[in-house]
Amino acid sequence: MGRKLPEWLKVNYNKEAVDEVSHLMADLKLNTVCKEANCPNLGECFKKKTATFMILGSVCTRNCRFCNVSNGHATNVDPEEPMNLAQAVKKLNLTHVVITSVTRDDLPDGGAAHFAKTIEAVRNINPDTTIEVLIPDLKGVHENLDIVINANPNVINHNVETVKYLYADVRPQADYERSLQVLQYVKEKAPHITSKTGIMVGLGETDEQVYEVMDDCLKVNCDIFTIGQYLRPSEQHIELKEYVTPEKFEEYKKVALEKGFKYVASGPLVRSSYKAGEASSIFK
Ligand code: SF4
Ligand code: SF4
Repeated sequence: MGRKLPEWLKVNYNKEAVDEVSHLMADLKLNTVCKEANCPNLGECFKKKTATFMILGSVCTRNCRFCNVSNGHATNVDPEEPMNLAQAVKKLNLTHVVITSVTRDDLPDGGAAHFAKTIEAVRNINPDTTIEVLIPDLKGVHENLDIVINANPNVINHNVETVKYLYADVRPQADYERSLQVLQYVKEKAPHITSKTGIMVGLGETDEQVYEVMDDCLKVNCDIFTIGQYLRPSEQHIELKEYVTPEKFEEYKKVALEKGFKYVASGPLVRSSYKAGEASSIFK
């Protein structure tokens, strides 16, 4: 039996915005997380000129139990994708763009060079748009991370996704320590690039475990922290344990700011890219 959606998670779906994006994406053969995930924030984000593109195909080589992206044999990398994406940023007149990808464990560099090409293409024809990349762990290999760092995006985001205690259940092919090391390496190598991470809640984590993740991410000098509600995509996905109340999200935000993050987004509908432009602009 599914749980009844609480009032605070009900939002109006903005059909007009979804249609506009859908047509453009189909024309340019691009994927956005906004649309693929039917993200409830789509109307608001597009009005604020922010979108999240998913590069390197739509099939992931991992199988996280909360995620709705399909998994299996990944597709060929489209060499025209960087330029197509740059053109979409221009057409949508985005002031901030988030670029993410499926995890490509099949590629020797995890897709790092494709990320770099995409960053360069976007910057070439959209010099005023700030660029945020939400990267997979790129196998934790420094050479792969260097390729992305050297392309010099404004923000590098790598989500830890959940508390350490739940990793084996929620993200069996990922590694909590490796994700922290990715954040640490990025900040050490490029202190001027804003670093960012985030988690979902509602999977049965305790407050203490949430605060432990915050402490661990601060130890590696992470700048921005995001917290949002896990929403179960289907019965096949990991079970939802709780709808966390807006008051609890406020409490998490207060604690995270007190602990030392420079910016925190915490709320039921927060996704790691939600209000990303606003978050990045404070570091300019
Ligand atoms: Fe897209 Fe992120 Fe906004 Fe959702 S929150 S619409 S995924 S930019
Ligand atoms: Fe989804 Fe990322 Fe996990 Fe792939 S690695 S299944 S895209 S969360």
